[in-house]
Amino acid sequence: MQIVLASNNHGKLRELKALFAQDPELQALQLLSAEEAKLEPVAEDASTFQGNARKKALTAAKATGLLALADDSGLEVDALGGRPGVHSARYAARDGVKSTDEENIKKLLGELTDVGQRTARFRCVVALAMPQGQVWTTEGSCEGFITTEPQGQGGFGYDPVFSVAGLGRTMAQLTEAEKNRLSHRAKAFFKALPLLKELLAQLK
Ligand code: IMP
Repeated sequence: MQIVLASNNHGKLRELKALFAQDPELQALQLLSAEEAKLEPVAEDASTFQGNARKKALTAAKATGLLALADDSGLEVDALGGRPGVHSARYAARDGVKSTDEENIKKLLGELTDVGQRTARFRCVVALAMPQGQVWTTEGSCEGFITTEPQGQGGFGYDPVFSVAGLGRTMAQLTEAEKNRLSHRAKAFFKALPLLKELLAQLK
């Protein structure tokens, strides 16, 4: 059976595929990325992770006739009033040109120069959608703080500057398996698992 992972973000896709691969009941599923499913880009214009995740999953399910899973996620920094939030992917973008992870990190560290309170969290909403229009969401978060310089080579996005609460390591210093036990994405995914399995059983 095929399901669509409505994303072209390589970091997200790698982590989601590893989460599916961990579960013996899900290993036989064929996971199609947005590109493989030939999906048109979706404007992520909602003001919440919920709104964007729902929109991405529903659009993908309707376009393909398949069960779709979408993730909308980002970083909330307390000293910045919750920014970059839903704008995390394009935080440093200018004139419509997408920003790279390095540019986003540079902007973030620049805004936090001399700021003592560096608490932050990653948030993720996972949405599951059926082609007929039903959609469900689950949420996960991971607390931490923003370091003063990048550390570690793993992960993607803001991982090198996000130190996980209580671990003393950045997300980029974790193995993929470690990140997939405690990340915002993993938490939202695990909450969605029972429903995902129920929907797959209905589709068999
Ligand atoms: P979107 O969900 O496609 O809007 O993009 C989410 C953005 O949030 C990514 O491009 C990253 O910048 C950031 N982000 C989300 N999850 C993670 C993560 O697990 N590690 C680091 N950055 C993340």
